[in-house]
Amino acid sequence: TEPVDGAAHRLTVIGTGYLGATHAVCMAALGYQVLGVDVDANKIERLAAGEVPFFEPGLPELLAKALDSGRLRFTTSLAEAADFGDVHFLCVGTPQRAGSYAADLRHVEAALITLARGLHRRALVVGKSTVPVGTAARLTDLMHAVSPAGDAVELAWNPEFLREGFAVDDTMRPDRLVFGVSSRWAERRLREVFAPVVDQGCPVLVTDPQTAELVKVAANGFLATKISYINAMAEVCEASGADVHDLATALGLDERIGSRFLRPGLGFGGGCLPKDIRAFMHRAEELGVGRAVAFLGEVDGINQRSRERMVDLVRDLAGGDLRGVRVAALGAAFKPNSDDIRDAPALDVASALHRAGARVWVFDPVAMANARRAYPALEYGDSAFDVATGADVVVLLTEWSQFREIDPAALRTVVARPRIADGRHALDPARWQAAGWEYRALGRP
Ligand code: NAD
Repeated sequence: TEPVDGAAHRLTVIGTGYLGATHAVCMAALGYQVLGVDVDANKIERLAAGEVPFFEPGLPELLAKALDSGRLRFTTSLAEAADFGDVHFLCVGTPQRAGSYAADLRHVEAALITLARGLHRRALVVGKSTVPVGTAARLTDLMHAVSPAGDAVELAWNPEFLREGFAVDDTMRPDRLVFGVSSRWAERRLREVFAPVVDQGCPVLVTDPQTAELVKVAANGFLATKISYINAMAEVCEASGADVHDLATALGLDERIGSRFLRPGLGFGGGCLPKDIRAFMHRAEELGVGRAVAFLGEVDGINQRSRERMVDLVRDLAGGDLRGVRVAALGAAFKPNSDDIRDAPALDVASALHRAGARVWVFDPVAMANARRAYPALEYGDSAFDVATGADVVVLLTEWSQFREIDPAALRTVVARPRIADGRHALDPARWQAAGWEYRALGRP
């Protein structure tokens, strides 16, 4: 991509986690002068040294280029950011509040207030974090109250839809851009900033901030519902002897339904879907429309149940008792192509198996360090074959392509018993059975 004309746009990206680091690097790649800001000094040090603190394909190479070009710098100072930027992207975390379904907005508020105190001239602050509908309106008042520039500072919302594992591509070539703005000026600024993306044909939807906030949680609610729908069908299949794999294939061929997000198995996890649907339910309650999204409680429940059913399936495969059973757990990340283990179904299942008395050996291609830190009681190996050596049951928990490509005949030579539980419907049962394995998956006879 050609650098953007002039240095008129100096952008800051506040919060340099999965979303912010990707956004900062991609904006620098588009030609902007970018300053990345985080309260985590260690993260800032690593990024400034060219190290991406998490696994994301393609990002380390782009970070190196951006640093070399001199267009990307990092700091821990929000005052410096306020002084530097014309457009400020807010990308801090909005986790689930402890003991509640609500989103914890303290980081967003703290970042915005500190930034705003340093804003002496007209500027646009653009929220990208996922927040409950109505947040931008409330934050606008806060911001105007503390900024020396008063209401010359505007707040817009531009929700982010990137997927971990495809974050660079999703940032450079998103399916759509949603601009939630309160003025034509804010819309123009956003159109300018995203011109290189829009010029490649990306659709732009301009709306008010509250609709923009809602687009994100509504999309995640829909995706979560689709996954739980097929996992609910898996439960019905189990009770009736039907096969959810064939069912999903047949449903997915209906163009109105589509096959994506319709793969049965262990369900969703990660740092977004689970907390987003809970925060959505909580916010809807506050707005007096809890009934409208109460079904998301069922979606969440089905999802949690998939993890429990997986533990039951492994117990069954082990002969009814998990005590002393050696389990090889393939996968720890919440999904392939990521090292993110936030609310990871894989580790939830692995630790439940451990609590039930199994000796669980885990391997994941990139999430080992994160998993070890969060689940020190589990044991870890160097490869799929390493953890499977001597195993009574092998459990596939994250559908990394390297697991899908395992040769069942070769793996059979190292295990104690050839029994596999496929938590992601990622393997071909006929192939594994032909190699002498007992194959089981949720929702399949
Ligand atoms: P993350 O935890 O990886 O990153 C958040 C960062 O914010 C951390 O580095 C943290 O140190 C920093 N931070 C916290 N308080 C700060 C402050 N006051 N000033 C500056 N920095 C501060 O989280 P993430 O996955 O990048 O998610 C960020 C937001 O983006 C969330 O709202 C999330 O729901 C949303 N989102 C994430 C994804 C994704 O795939 N990860 C996709 C779309 C939207």
